[in-house]
Amino acid sequence: MTIAIYPGSFDPVTNGHVDIASRAAALFDKLIICVYDTPQKRIMFSTTERVTLMKKAVAHLRNVTVVPYSGLTVDHARQMNAKVIVRGLRMSSDFEREFEMALMNKKLAPDIELVCLMTNLEYQFISSSLLKEAAKLGGDITSLVPKHVAVALTDKFRLDREQVKRQSSTVKKATRRKTNGL
Ligand code: ADP
Repeated sequence: MTIAIYPGSFDPVTNGHVDIASRAAALFDKLIICVYDTPQKRIMFSTTERVTLMKKAVAHLRNVTVVPYSGLTVDHARQMNAKVIVRGLRMSSDFEREFEMALMNKKLAPDIELVCLMTNLEYQFISSSLLKEAAKLGGDITSLVPKHVAVALTDKFRLDREQVKRQSSTVKKATRRKTNGL
């Protein structure tokens, strides 16, 4: 039985991620999607939220499970009894990054193989960071992510806007008090 892991930040999961997951699920007996707990980049959704969104997105894939993880990816692969790490490639910059990571991982864990799947043409331009930017500016991202993710993004930006409004009204009040006191 060949077990593979598909690690990533998935902040949030996109149709590109789901496509890679479903193609990998067809190649391996079991695929474990591992949601990285503490990525270096700024994260919008908490680990629990990212896991929940991913679980819903791949609920139709029978041999796929989703777990959070922290620490070294190769250590986590070993804990999961996985022999393969799956990653997706969109453009040449992905290749350079994946190549570097693959060499480091091979040094750390020669027994684990990396399998990179090329993106589907229609998902080539989708990245979590770009779509968050587009959603923030009011762009229609509904064709780029599963439906429940689009809803989660809309909710998140509404909460953010409300928080900014609250903060700016607190600042205005404080400024007014200060000015009146002078
Ligand atoms: P990470 O921070 O680990 O790169 P991401 O969530 O950005 O996490 O991506 C996880 C994996 O999915 C990476 O291998 C990335 O290249 C791949 N990926 C991201 N978006 C797409 C896409 N649209 N098509 C194919 N692969 C993708």
